[in-house]
Amino acid sequence: MANKEKLMTRGTALNLTDRQQSFADLGAETFDVLIIGAGITGCGIARDAAMRGLRTVLIDAGDIAAGTSSRSSKLIHGGLRYLAQGQVGIVREAAIERRTLRRIAPHLSLTNSMVIPTSSKKATTGFRAVMWTFEKLSKVDKSERHVVWDSKQLQTEEPLLIKGKHAGAVVYPEYLTDDSRLTLANARSAVGHGALVVTYAAARKLIMEDGAATGAEICSTLPGHNQQTMVRAKTIVNAAGPWLDVVRQLEDQNAKKKLQLTKGIHLVFPYKRLPVQHTIIWNAIDGRSIFAVRRGEFVYIGTTDTFYAEPEYRPEITREDIDYLLDSANQIFDVEPLTTKDVVSLWSGLRPLLGDEGKSPSEISRRNEVLTGPGGVKAIAGGKLTSYRSMASRLVDLCEKQLGRKPCPAPTEKETLPGGGFEISFAELIAELESFGLSQVEAERAARLYGSEALELFAKGCGPAVEAAFAVTHEGALTLEDYWIRRSTRACFDDNGGLDALEPAAEVMAALLGWTDEERKRQIETCRQQREQDLELLKTL
Ligand SMILES: Cc1cc2nc3c(=O)[nH]c(=O)nc-3n(C[C@H](O)[C@H](O)[C@H](O)COP(=O)(O)OP(=O)(O)OC[C@H]3O[C@@H](n4cnc5c(N)ncnc54)[C@H](O)[C@@H]3O)c2cc1C
Repeated sequence: MANKEKLMTRGTALNLTDRQQSFADLGAETFDVLIIGAGITGCGIARDAAMRGLRTVLIDAGDIAAGTSSRSSKLIHGGLRYLAQGQVGIVREAAIERRTLRRIAPHLSLTNSMVIPTSSKKATTGFRAVMWTFEKLSKVDKSERHVVWDSKQLQTEEPLLIKGKHAGAVVYPEYLTDDSRLTLANARSAVGHGALVVTYAAARKLIMEDGAATGAEICSTLPGHNQQTMVRAKTIVNAAGPWLDVVRQLEDQNAKKKLQLTKGIHLVFPYKRLPVQHTIIWNAIDGRSIFAVRRGEFVYIGTTDTFYAEPEYRPEITREDIDYLLDSANQIFDVEPLTTKDVVSLWSGLRPLLGDEGKSPSEISRRNEVLTGPGGVKAIAGGKLTSYRSMASRLVDLCEKQLGRKPCPAPTEKETLPGGGFEISFAELIAELESFGLSQVEAERAARLYGSEALELFAKGCGPAVEAAFAVTHEGALTLEDYWIRRSTRACFDDNGGLDALEPAAEVMAALLGWTDEERKRQIETCRQQREQDLELLKTL
């Protein structure tokens, strides 16, 4: 392959190993924008602001994407179901964003056919009408318009569906992503444009001067580290996702809660146990839509949508949540009924939605809104992974106005994200990786997670040690969990929950991060315990 060197995105390495320096940098100047929260919302804003030339600082109480942004369904939606709710604006925006992501991060927006089985010819006609409206509104390319399968074709294409139950299917392309890596790619791009990023740094207090918020007190949350500092900024953005109201109350302790959190869980199965060929959407036992998505050697099913009271990193998963997904799957697939014994991993997350009194969880709008607090802090609530870029642009316009500047949009849709600089097709990328000795499964996984950067990264071999070293030197990982869950995604999408990767990854990370042997063991134990808790949960059900 010609000029491999060019494919590695330069200048976007995120190395956070020097904690003293990170905290010294936080306190060293007055920034134009301080962003609290490094989920997709905060990272998208940081990238946009930094591209506009604003001195930008992004902090997170945990890792990048430690909150909802690693716990979604990992779909870049056209937003079809919002049409039924009359939310035309969201649909149009989502469709545009889908196309943009395709350009700037092709490996994080892989096309996959969505199959909606229909119960009757009338239902097919109804869906087609929705699809036509969607395609017209969203200016969907001819090659990506929907097609209809009759029952015979559906049976051939998806033999796993119970026979005789469906009149056919409406089929259209949607995109699959990896949420935590998309978030990380935005953080790295922000760094490439000069932003300062510090993780495991929580905003505990806002500094108020003459009624205006002018900064925040930041404390390290990394075990064994006790740095504290003050960061000063001319504008402050609250992008704390499910913790939005907690941060709003740092500015105004009487601020009324705006969020209504809803929990969603996903179950992961081995592909061999549920060999679906496409992404399938169907109605769950209560009529909501759920789906099954193939990802390499695994298939995941999601999601639930139930109210949840308080923000948490690992929201509790209940027996009802799991039964709901299993029962819904068992009523459509012609396989030996799925049970908890088949589940290889699972995750839960919280949607930070704007409260809509009297509405059920799935009826609550996914709209986003900016709330400006009495001290001028801009809190951005609601939204979706899919539309992060346009949300960020609107928010940074407001920051520029607050700074007394004329908003000048950044060309975020033109510059590729790290790993997105493809000079070859995705299939060619996989083939190239196979030529290094990677198996087909490894090559597909590497291409999907690392994009064009995989060519340099895995040229001399692949595996947890290589990935973990890159996670520290280029991707800002500071704990083994950062690597295991959000960089490598092995915790959910690897045999045995990726436990085999922990030792080799921890060894490399210990050397790079200066861990003692005791600390290395503690890091491994923390991950093992998480896995144990999940397995215990599945065993007791
Ligand atoms: C089950 C589920 C499925 C979904 N599926 C999809 C999908 O398929 N497609 C799609 O487009 N969208 C989907 N979404 C929605 C999407 O995932 C969210 O809208 C998005 O991830 C929210 O990102 P965020 O950055 O606003 O919040 P988060 O990712 O939660 O980020 C907030 C960050 O703020 C940090 N923080 C909190 N308090 C502080 C503090 N005091 N100081 C510093 N940092 C702080 C947290 O550590 C966290 O990292 C789904 C959501 C859920 C729950």
